[in-house]
Amino acid sequence: MGAADAELWTIGAFARASRLSPKALRLYDELGLLPPVRVDPVTGYRFYAAGQLERARLVAWLRRLGMPLARIREVCARDAAGAAEQVRAYWAEVEADTAQRRDLAHFLVGQLAREDSVMGTTAPLEMRYAALSDAGRVRESNQDTAYAGARLLAVADGFGAAGAPAGAAAVEVLRRLEPGSGSAGGVVSAGGVLNALEDAVEEARRAIREAAGQRGEEEAGSAGAAGTTLTAMLWTGSQLALVHIGDSRAYLLRDGGLFQITTDHTVVRALVEEGRLTEEEAASHPQRALLARALTTDEQAPAVAAEVRVQDALPGDRYLLCSDGLSAVVPTREIREVLTGVADPDTAVRELVDRANALGGPDNVSCVVADVHLSGVDATVPEADAG
Ligand code: MG
Repeated sequence: MGAADAELWTIGAFARASRLSPKALRLYDELGLLPPVRVDPVTGYRFYAAGQLERARLVAWLRRLGMPLARIREVCARDAAGAAEQVRAYWAEVEADTAQRRDLAHFLVGQLAREDSVMGTTAPLEMRYAALSDAGRVRESNQDTAYAGARLLAVADGFGAAGAPAGAAAVEVLRRLEPGSGSAGGVVSAGGVLNALEDAVEEARRAIREAAGQRGEEEAGSAGAAGTTLTAMLWTGSQLALVHIGDSRAYLLRDGGLFQITTDHTVVRALVEEGRLTEEEAASHPQRALLARALTTDEQAPAVAAEVRVQDALPGDRYLLCSDGLSAVVPTREIREVLTGVADPDTAVRELVDRANALGGPDNVSCVVADVHLSGVDATVPEADAG
């Protein structure tokens, strides 16, 4: 260590003084947020100057505020007045977000409270549904699959050389769960359905590998990584069992509010949740479509879990399942407008696909719309401007 290094702090000493962990300091270095003044070229040890302590303390406090790292980088780049403005703007967003979450919490409390009183006492529920899949305006082929039946709603977005057969195979496996289809049909208890769905996902995984294998023999060596997303809901008569893997989405329209009830399994979404990216950065990230989870043909890929859970259905509920060719192209506000304004499911899916294509149709686009209504009751809601 040279004479100049005598003034420098080791990462351990600097961590203690700044109340940041050495692990956090290494991460902030990688992100360019708080680079050490010197890195030993031989040992790789990091050294910090006493003058960096103020910046480190500010970072630590902003982290305690819950501010994402990308945002902290912006604050640190400003002078004091600019930094104050940035923190003020961030906090306004946090409060707006909290208000939205409060609404969602109220919705969930209401839903759970109703569960006891409603389930088992009402007349059986039924669904009216429609599905539509379109290649879009840019892609040569359609690798999406959309399906809606009396018991099953499903969207799969295939990718890679065998993407289309992979998506189709995954949906085909789920169709065997529909009552009346033979095998596992007629499962009505929620727990039973969830187990059946988990098994079906495993079977789908095998089926898409088979589908890719056949294609691989035809086009030796050109198959590459392929796979599919899968978002599907299986109807039990009073509940919907949801299975979800990838970045296709399920939404619920209830009491006029549109709620996304699935999480995107993308790398970018995970980075946002870790605070490494802001929402704005995620929206324009070049690799925003990169999937963190999918059903793939890659035998070496870890067997990642699908999300499975039960969703209570109420008369008047409207569900939308869609591929990212809709959700990444048509603004949520417009999707909600179509879902609240167009009563007929067939017309609604047509309108949603048309909107994606009107905005350039950059990807295959698939939609399933399903309305829950009391058995024997005409579900048609008169449209405000229907003549
Ligand atoms: Mg897509």
